[in-house]
Amino acid sequence: MIFSELNLAEPVLRAVTVEKYTTPSPIQEQTIPHLLAGKDVLGCAQTGTGKTAAFALPIIHRLYEQGVPRGRRAPRALILAPTRELAAQVGASFNSLGKFTGIKTAIIFGGVGQGPQAAALRNGVDVVVTTPGRLIDLMNQRLVDLRQINTLVLDEADHMLDMGFIHDVKRIISKIPGERHTMLFSATMPKEIASLAAAVLKNPVNIAVAAVSSPVETVTQSVYHVDKAKKGILLVDLLKNGGIKTGLVFSRTKHGADKICRMLNAAGIQSDAIHGNKSQSARKQALDSFKRGKLRVLVATDIAARGIDIHALPHVVNYDLPDVPETYVHRIGRTGRAGRQGTAVSFCDVSERSLLRDIERLISISIPIESDHPLAGTAPSESRGSSGSSFAPRRRSGDNRSSAHRSSGHDRRNGGGRPQRRGKTQDRYKKSA
Ligand code: AMP
Repeated sequence: MIFSELNLAEPVLRAVTVEKYTTPSPIQEQTIPHLLAGKDVLGCAQTGTGKTAAFALPIIHRLYEQGVPRGRRAPRALILAPTRELAAQVGASFNSLGKFTGIKTAIIFGGVGQGPQAAALRNGVDVVVTTPGRLIDLMNQRLVDLRQINTLVLDEADHMLDMGFIHDVKRIISKIPGERHTMLFSATMPKEIASLAAAVLKNPVNIAVAAVSSPVETVTQSVYHVDKAKKGILLVDLLKNGGIKTGLVFSRTKHGADKICRMLNAAGIQSDAIHGNKSQSARKQALDSFKRGKLRVLVATDIAARGIDIHALPHVVNYDLPDVPETYVHRIGRTGRAGRQGTAVSFCDVSERSLLRDIERLISISIPIESDHPLAGTAPSESRGSSGSSFAPRRRSGDNRSSAHRSSGHDRRNGGGRPQRRGKTQDRYKKSA
């Protein structure tokens, strides 16, 4: 499926194109048609699945179709989020996806002066993205008018529960019109959230997508601890002597992608890069050449790689580790599809070790270390295990095909069924609590 098949209004579709989203993610494909039809939705999905656009696009579309007044107006859509970071991110998505529609969004959270937020509301907005606490403050001061709200989103409802906001959330809901379009998203469904959902949603469509923290079992993962300056020679060597015939190489930056590409071509390994600075036709051409086997390597940035569908990709190389652990799962999910075996090889320099730790925490796997290669080192003991991680480094010998093991001492689910995320992400939630 492609976005143009979703019947979104032209200015919304234009923004999708500018964002370089080509194919809807599974949650978007499943959710958008129901929301466009005005159905309530109960979505079980985590961050990283594309859930924000799954609700933002249909909301923007519907507000646009209702007509966007100018000047002072009361907001019609209310999005409640547990943290200021999430509110800021969701608000930014509304701004970018709504930029051709005239729809205005206010982003509201505590910990900063309320003056500019109150002024934005006074001047007129269509969408309010807010944390519950600050909204209650503004409501108490009669600085926000919720009487026109016809759309309500509860985002990361389980986090709102964890953070003790459920009472505030219920109070807010009691102050908005009952005749409305409602959606609730939550990564897990504890009892309290299920009963909240039952109370606020009318005949909802239930949608669940797999958590992004589970890499497919058919992917053999490994990591090389390597000096930053030697990553290039290591890649060339793996492509020439290490059994990697063809693959997708991920670079964190566009500039880096071009550099890797030049280096590979200079070493006689046909490659091309796709990233945001390349025109759509150049990207298509590179992808087609890769699919036809004319290129051995396609180097891509994360944004450019989203949405590209290459069947039977045997190898993924993380030349740089991604900043966001979920991105690792997206990247390696490009191989090992449809039951085929795939390998995901990661290069980790000293500056990336904390990223590796975050990834291992997210996926609950200790990624086997390749230490046999002359350029590869072993991680010094301080790089793993020192921060309370339960992952023991596992040295790897000759066997190149052994699968990564789930660390048995680390139960991914606690009583409430919540995946344990103890890395940066959860710290972020804590900080903003
Ligand atoms: P979310 O799960 O909403 O936090 O989204 C995760 C990331 O995926 C964000 O950086 C979005 O900009 C990006 N994204 C969302 N939908 C798509 C799509 N259909 N194609 C490519 N990227 C997307």
